[in-house]
Amino acid sequence: MKVRVRFAPSPTGGLHLGGVRTVLFNYLFARAHGGDFILRIEDTDQGRFVPGAEQYIMDCLTWCGLEPDESPVKGGPHMPYRQSERKAMYQQYAQQLVAAGYAYYAFDTPEEIETMRTAHRKDEHSHAQYDGNTRMHMKNSLTLPEATVQQLLADKTPYVVRIKVPANTTVTLNDMIRGEVSFDSSLVDDKVLLKADGMPTYHLAVVVDDYLMQITHAFRGEEWLPSAPVHVLLWEYLGWKDQMPQWAHLPLILKPDGNGKLSKRDGDRLGFPVFAMNWTDPKTNEVTAGFREIGFMPEAFVNMLAMLGWNDGTGQEVFSLKELTEKFAIERIHKGGAKFDYEKAKWFNHQHIQRTDDQTLARLARPFMEAKGITADEALLVKVAGLIKDRCTLLPDFYTQGHFFFATPEVTEMAAITEKWNAQKQAFFEGWSAALATQANADAAALEASFNEHVQQHGLKKGDVMLPLRIMLVGGKYGPGVFAIAELIGITETINRITAVLRSI
Ligand code: GLU
Repeated sequence: MKVRVRFAPSPTGGLHLGGVRTVLFNYLFARAHGGDFILRIEDTDQGRFVPGAEQYIMDCLTWCGLEPDESPVKGGPHMPYRQSERKAMYQQYAQQLVAAGYAYYAFDTPEEIETMRTAHRKDEHSHAQYDGNTRMHMKNSLTLPEATVQQLLADKTPYVVRIKVPANTTVTLNDMIRGEVSFDSSLVDDKVLLKADGMPTYHLAVVVDDYLMQITHAFRGEEWLPSAPVHVLLWEYLGWKDQMPQWAHLPLILKPDGNGKLSKRDGDRLGFPVFAMNWTDPKTNEVTAGFREIGFMPEAFVNMLAMLGWNDGTGQEVFSLKELTEKFAIERIHKGGAKFDYEKAKWFNHQHIQRTDDQTLARLARPFMEAKGITADEALLVKVAGLIKDRCTLLPDFYTQGHFFFATPEVTEMAAITEKWNAQKQAFFEGWSAALATQANADAAALEASFNEHVQQHGLKKGDVMLPLRIMLVGGKYGPGVFAIAELIGITETINRITAVLRSI
């Protein structure tokens, strides 16, 4: 049987780390087994629908390089891939469940449900559920005479369909990560399957679609584990138990400084992104920072995510997406939550920058240069990228570490020159730049040789004039080899920068 997995997000907002990791594990599993990876949009909860979220999710997948084989945009053999467009398909299954006695019509108003929740609660702190203990006190097709039910339906009285969770049963599921997980059915409530507007809830839609789309393995966040018994019961009640996918509930991603689940608020509080890309909330217009905009490389981001809950057992940490596809094995996903460490995330990015060829780095760095007003010559940008990449952790570092190759820098460390300035140094720089003016462009080694020669002629030590030269060319006390810089900016620009500083001294 061909492996088929799905990522099934609800378009209710941006995709955070945990969401993308779910995508990744689905993708890796599909690729590792020559299977299909499906993107299905679970948009049946119209109240939580956020415009733009679906496009954002698809753009994230594209940025990460995790393209689905079937999706609402790409299509596929099980179209449509948006649940709102499949509305009509779910009704018959809800009816089938009611007819078989596994589900029932419930006519209660929200107020009646609220009254029940307070009246039947066991203590001050918790409210009662609509379940085996309370359902017989409610207005539904289990308590009302058949004729009344038919009348209410004929009168188009709003109703929902609820699953009838059996009493005192143990519902068991074999999770690929956790092994056997058992649930006491008495603690599970009679979840709504079909809403008053005829839309299914997530619980019905996820089971029907996983069945119809022939999903073989379902990866999702651990937060869905409490819903799993409802899904297992539905697979059984619909008569599909032997086609039920194998489940894998992925461990939570934890905050760096505690044990709870990582949230957007932790990102705001500790100053790191939690979304893959910038997410602009259409309601508030508030932007939450994303890894892409901060300057992460997609491969580094994906590598970092893979290591949140998985390893290959050899201690290797840096992987390309291709290597991950080859090495990914579900047996090595941990059960426990994985702590997110932003410093480590940056380390991954630094590592990937070092492994990336200069041409690609130039392409990735260009938008960050342009955002700062630098339109870089392609050939020069490629050379600069190679020269400074070991100093770069995030892509904007190519600007901070390399802007002076493309534009005359502002000299911010003038004091470091003037403090120890003297006539001898003045004469040296005047003499050397005059000598340079008679010569054509030269490489770093030739420039250094001519510099050394003049140092000797002026009775100086090289160390006396190296820092001033760096500050003249770079503006500050940083950057790669100073003669490599002079070579790349060229003789004329080198002379101009020296002259400008001499003038201001
Ligand atoms: N629609 C659910 C979500 O938003 C999908 C959970 C699942 O994969 O079953 O995460």
